[in-house]
Amino acid sequence: MLKDKGEQRTSLASLGEFGLIDHLTANFKITQSSTVKGIGDDAAVLDFESKKVVVSTDLLVEGVHFDLSYMPLKHLGYKAVVVNVSDIYAMNAKATQVTISIAVSNRFPLEALEELYAGIQLAAKMYNVDVIGGDTTSSTKGLLISVTAIGEIEEEKIAYRNGAKENDLLVVTGDIGGAFLGLKVLQREKTVFEVNPNNQPDLDMYSYIIERQLKPEARKDIPPLLHDLDVKPTSMIDISDGLSSEIMHLCKQSDVGCNLYEDKIPLDPQVISTCEEFNLDSTMVALSGGEDYELLFTISQEDFPKIKANPNLTVIGHMTQESEGIHLITRANTKIPLQAQGWNAMDQ
Ligand code: ADP
Ligand code: MG
Repeated sequence: MLKDKGEQRTSLASLGEFGLIDHLTANFKITQSSTVKGIGDDAAVLDFESKKVVVSTDLLVEGVHFDLSYMPLKHLGYKAVVVNVSDIYAMNAKATQVTISIAVSNRFPLEALEELYAGIQLAAKMYNVDVIGGDTTSSTKGLLISVTAIGEIEEEKIAYRNGAKENDLLVVTGDIGGAFLGLKVLQREKTVFEVNPNNQPDLDMYSYIIERQLKPEARKDIPPLLHDLDVKPTSMIDISDGLSSEIMHLCKQSDVGCNLYEDKIPLDPQVISTCEEFNLDSTMVALSGGEDYELLFTISQEDFPKIKANPNLTVIGHMTQESEGIHLITRANTKIPLQAQGWNAMDQ
């Protein structure tokens, strides 16, 4: 009798490297006109005609960037693609291809890699990118995934980190802080589960923030939205590490300062209620939390009327002269210097 898929354990050795690659990539379809040759040769072949090409890579290491005890492999595959295409959108570009490289120990059966690739395939479909290659090798311990994302853009539309000007408005997409709190909840539940495996957590009230952690989405919609609104961001970055450190990157590279307004930072109600529960300051979480994969960008003041009615976009501050520094203006109207990790209360 066939066992449940979940119980089946086919050893990787029984397939061999080539059998494994064929098996995992059999369902990938090419949809981008810029992909001339995908998986199957010594190298992929791409043709971007008159467009500029943007390329970004991330390496994810088990135990450092993810914990498989609460991150299902399908989610991990999905997230590995998402975090990479996010970097492409942060250039104001369209993501077109990805490569996937993995190192796996023999503790993983084929079925685990099938799960991982199901997530990769789902993300590739969602973000409309072709999987055009990769590499497969063994590791002595744990799982490593490296994804390279490729995208295309007209040269004049590229948004670098270094283009922000004094008086530009600072804009953020969506809301922030959720992914960090989702992780906090999952870590707590893991501890509870370890104490008593019969404890089935009720996580309904945390559904949004857990999804932000386990199934983050990149803002594929923002480059075309900005195009439609006829707004060219003067600088842009994605929020992988927390609002504070991303603001500092924009400021440092653009030689400007910034005033960020605490009361403008967009927070989901679940972020606010979970902060209360964990006794955390929601502004601190938004500033240093990370992994939200929203976009942070600057626009010139004259573009404000074009974005002001859009519920996806929130103006949270403005850029200043570099000499004015980088500050959080609190609800109580005090000015606190921002630090890479939130703020330093000692500087008040
Ligand atoms: P090489 O020996 O030149 O590294 P491989 O046998 O590793 O070639 O790869 C064969 C083909 O399969 C190539 O097109 C490669 O890009 C692709 N490939 C290998 N591993 C993966 C993977 N993990 N995911 C997607 N494509 C892969
Ligand atoms: Mg190879």
